[in-house]
Amino acid sequence: MANERGFIELPLVAEARESVATRITHFNEFIATLSDAQAQQQASRCMDCGIPFCQNRCPLHNDMPDFNKMVAEGRWAEAYQALISTNDFPEITGRICPALCQESCCLGLYQPHEVGIKSIERKIIEYAYAHGLVRSLAPSASTGKAVAIVGSGPAALACAVRLNRLGVKVCVYEKMDQIGGLLRYGIPDFKLSKEVLDRKIKQMATEGVEFKTSTLVVANQDANPQLDPGIHSDHQAVVSLDELKEQYDAVVLAVGSETPRDLNLPGRALHGIYFALDFLIAQNKENQGKGLNPIEVKGKKVVIIGGGETASDCIGVSIRKGAASVTQVDYHEELPTEINVREVWPNARPIKHTSTSQEEGCTRLFATNTTEFVPNKDDPSTVGAINTVQVKWGPKRKITPIKDSAGSLEADIVLIALGYSHPSQQAFSKAALAQDERHNFKAATQGANAFQSSDQQVFVAGDCRKGQSLVVYALAEGRDCALSVYQQLMALPCRTEQSA
Ligand SMILES: Cc1cc2nc3c(=O)[nH]c(=O)nc-3n(C[C@H](O)[C@H](O)[C@H](O)COP(=O)(O)OP(=O)(O)OC[C@H]3O[C@@H](n4cnc5c(N)ncnc54)[C@H](O)[C@@H]3O)c2cc1C
Ligand code: SF4
Repeated sequence: MANERGFIELPLVAEARESVATRITHFNEFIATLSDAQAQQQASRCMDCGIPFCQNRCPLHNDMPDFNKMVAEGRWAEAYQALISTNDFPEITGRICPALCQESCCLGLYQPHEVGIKSIERKIIEYAYAHGLVRSLAPSASTGKAVAIVGSGPAALACAVRLNRLGVKVCVYEKMDQIGGLLRYGIPDFKLSKEVLDRKIKQMATEGVEFKTSTLVVANQDANPQLDPGIHSDHQAVVSLDELKEQYDAVVLAVGSETPRDLNLPGRALHGIYFALDFLIAQNKENQGKGLNPIEVKGKKVVIIGGGETASDCIGVSIRKGAASVTQVDYHEELPTEINVREVWPNARPIKHTSTSQEEGCTRLFATNTTEFVPNKDDPSTVGAINTVQVKWGPKRKITPIKDSAGSLEADIVLIALGYSHPSQQAFSKAALAQDERHNFKAATQGANAFQSSDQQVFVAGDCRKGQSLVVYALAEGRDCALSVYQQLMALPCRTEQSA
């Protein structure tokens, strides 16, 4: 503990952020990294409480008490080493993690604000880049093993970086034209700058990770493979899982949970109704100079159906694109803005959260279910409104429509942001890998066969195993999967020995 009275005397130091009026004029990040002094003050608030609930709650089990102490004492190089011992991507989590750890911080029980762990994490890695502490960790020797990783989101990247450093030759196959998964094509630039992602990918390439983009992997070679509706691909080449199994000692599938949940209601076929990622991917591409987003929302009434991060990102993008109005329709009931933290600590707080995008100016409707898409009176092929009904939630998540509560909402553009159910069924239907009841790939996360699918040579990690989740869980699964693959491969003879 660097400062024995820090937790009593020092207030939270929040990261500076641009005003709403300024930030909605551009797509750049608008939250600043703490200064050295601010980060040291913030880290001095850590109580070193003995049982670090924050560390337990973080899926990566980052070592906050240690790196907080090191930052508070100005021992930046040591703090960087402590941080990267568990987290290979702090520049990502320091920006877009919902900071589960902070809900479990003991200080939150006694003070209005817990330690700003996420902001310290971001500061440590940005300090490390600025001061030349980030060095290539290319392996000094090769194991002779080779692994193909399919997908390039956080689970794939976390797996690749660790396996490569362990001396395994790694090649990452991605169907889109650039590396990053949802970090690249999904999460908007104002939350995560793509320069931050590129800096990391460049470092990984320097260390020896190979990347193959625009390459779709399917269970069986098929000249014209189909993907489920709503799944995007820029592929120019197709490779089969069997080919990868021939060429590599193991294959890791980290293909995400890309199949969007639809709303099959009357009027769904009307023009002007899109999946959220149709809009978000096109905007990420427009920002990279790859053509204009074909979904034009300028001057239009945009209705976003859904309550999660994806819906929130659609709000921020719509506002920046000049929508006349943005309304979010959420079928969950509105939560209170405050609760007694002691009743729920150290678990998640069931309170109403307001994202930075929601702060930028949208109308939020709660306990509102969509019942129908209504044609535009002047152009009946296009959506003009949605019909809704108010709902009440009961036991076992049963929702009941409230009598006489039907309503209608004008809509020129509707974005469906209801989450994602599983990886592409069509791409992998012939792989015959065991699935769970939600059609994600089945594998344990503990034990000798951790992350191994029903095919011994194929491992699975991230959203395609766990189901739609968070970046920090994908990073943790990718990291832990790498260790499991490594341990299993090292117990096998080299491919050259096998064929001798
Ligand atoms: C719009 C949006 C915003 C989000 N915001 C946040 C946030 O702020 N914070 C947070 O913690 N989480 C957020 N999430 C969730 C988070 O992005 C995911 O949980 C995480 O990216 C999952 O990582 P992954 O590596 O498992 O899969 P993904 O990131 O989905 O990556 C999978 C990759 O595999 C590729 N792929 C799929 N099939 C094939 C194939 N057959 N051949 C080759 N490549 C293939 C895909 O193209 C994709 O690049 C958000 C999700 C969305 C949709
Ligand atoms: S990765 Fe997320 S949960 Fe873990 S320490 Fe960082 S902000 Fe907290």
